[in-house]
Amino acid sequence: MGIRQFFNRLQQTTKQESVACYHCGEQVSLRRVVRADFNGASRELCCHGCAAVLMMIETNGLIDVYLSNKSPVKPVS
Ligand SMILES: [Zn+2]
Repeated sequence: MGIRQFFNRLQQTTKQESVACYHCGEQVSLRRVVRADFNGASRELCCHGCAAVLMMIETNGLIDVYLSNKSPVKPVS
């Protein structure tokens, strides 16, 4: 394998290893992702804070409200 192919492969791998948080859209490494069941499916989240929010929404029966208000990704910094 040439060095170029190696880096291409490395880049692809890195891309696949990160996923957007279901709640806030923050990119999170698959090794650090937090999973929580929400609305009947397993969701990938960046932290336990986002998992707690989803849990609270589901517990309070606010899933429909949440989904209809779900806004485009806003960067948090
Ligand atoms: Zn998040």
